[in-house]
Amino acid sequence: MTTSEAHETATNNAPWAQSGRQPSIAIIGAGMSGIAAVVKLQKAGYTDVTVYEKTDRVGGTWRENTYPGLSCDVPSRWYSFYFALKADWPHRYSYGADIQAYLEQVAEDFGVTHKVTFNTAVTELTYDAPCWHLVTSDGKQEIFDVVISATGILHQPNYPDIDGLDSFQGACFHTARWDHASELKGQRVGIIGTGSTACQIVGAITDQVSEMHVFQRTPHWLSPLPQIAYSTGWNRLLSAFPFMQRLAYHYYCRLMVHTFSAATVGNKFMQRLINKTCVKHLKDNVPDPALRARLTPAYDATCKRLIFCSDFYPAISRPNAHLITDAITQIEAQGIRTADGKLHELDALILATGFNAAAFVLPARVTGENGVDLETQWDGAPRAHRAVALPGFPNFWMVEGPTGPVGNLSLIAISEHQVDYIVSMLDHMKAEGLAAIAAKQTAYDDYNAAMGEAIKNTTWATGGCTSWYFDKSGVPNLYPWKPLHYLKSMRNPDYSEYHLIK
Ligand code: NAP
Repeated sequence: MTTSEAHETATNNAPWAQSGRQPSIAIIGAGMSGIAAVVKLQKAGYTDVTVYEKTDRVGGTWRENTYPGLSCDVPSRWYSFYFALKADWPHRYSYGADIQAYLEQVAEDFGVTHKVTFNTAVTELTYDAPCWHLVTSDGKQEIFDVVISATGILHQPNYPDIDGLDSFQGACFHTARWDHASELKGQRVGIIGTGSTACQIVGAITDQVSEMHVFQRTPHWLSPLPQIAYSTGWNRLLSAFPFMQRLAYHYYCRLMVHTFSAATVGNKFMQRLINKTCVKHLKDNVPDPALRARLTPAYDATCKRLIFCSDFYPAISRPNAHLITDAITQIEAQGIRTADGKLHELDALILATGFNAAAFVLPARVTGENGVDLETQWDGAPRAHRAVALPGFPNFWMVEGPTGPVGNLSLIAISEHQVDYIVSMLDHMKAEGLAAIAAKQTAYDDYNAAMGEAIKNTTWATGGCTSWYFDKSGVPNLYPWKPLHYLKSMRNPDYSEYHLIK
């Protein structure tokens, strides 16, 4: 059956699992989650898949971010698809361009690229049982049996609400919208923010600019990044013995999960060890005690997302670097004015101010059963059932939805497990001849109530900080238990948590 025939049948409201046809599946986003979804759906026999991608390339966050120093602080052996392990990663921690090339290659090798409708954003999704009506940015309308949102978490830049931002006369851009036409060499550059992104940029460009002004609102803890280049010989060995690639994948998974991740969800020993590591890293790399004091956070390491970066402290200690901790009061044509009245004159201004972490499926408006609008329901505090499903939104699935395990983990690995879970749901629909499947309100409520209790014991809540992890309700929007528990739950769906609609 062709896609259009399937859509026509969908229009006739004949549930796919009852009529024995292929479900028509729309995937929103061709980043790593979208790629994983297509590959795994195809492998499971679901081939009527259309991916909508708002831009002209696959890659998601790795396509969107192109700033100098861009790299991934999750080890590359684990930050890979398990179905497409790569023997010849050049580094232990991959640079952004290498990850983007990898994602494009996987999309090509596994037949994903030709499933993608590029330069087409999904703007509206409306449930009309048992199908989803989808509207795209070019005004087209399509009908699908199943929708998978794979839009990523951090994709909407957060522009700071600072007086006079528009009045700055030099180049000014957000880190996720890097202006490669702006030459920063020899310039007086300002950067607002000291998160993971800012640290990588400051580490990469400070030795090239004439002055580097770093505007820090809150200091962050930094752990060293033990970067190494893999030798050709070592990579050849992994290529010859693929089981070693799988071994390396599991080794780095266990390493990250049992150390940095464990610290956030109750392992006090690990938390103390990480605190000590960060303090030592700061002490060893910032010789000036006054600067060190201003770089020292007043909260536990791992409260905010832990930054892994070995370049930032040496860079901020350079004579041409200036750490500014006075609050920004205004941005003016010539630079940034701070609370002490000083104008910091700049030629270029970089906004390393992060992302709107509540914009999961935006800009698409999603309307579920009884006309319920998803954004209105979430009201700035997105929740989900097991990070993938929602009551009242049948046959609508999220990859990397709210309350999933994020942080210092491989999101590629998390996405793969979530897609496996969604595939199990489709298989179940097929086996049972179901018209629709949706999380039960009671299951969702119980799950989120348990999460609400458990989150209180995590370092995100007790560590004494705020970050993009916190939603509008003031609660960290993360999985509060051990990530391996989550992965196990993704492998073993409990169908009693769902309405199985015939
Ligand atoms: P971020 O962690 O949210 O940091 C934003 C920074 O901007 C913070 O220092 C924040 O200060 C500051 N800020 C925001 N609004 C401000 C304002 N109005 N005035 C002054 N300062 C302001 O954003 P990010 O660095 O882009 O990183 C976001 C996430 O992306 C990371 O946590 C990580 O998950 C991911 N990431 C990963 C990698 C990787 O290697 N895997 C690399 C880069 C990013 P406060 O701290 O005071 O809020």
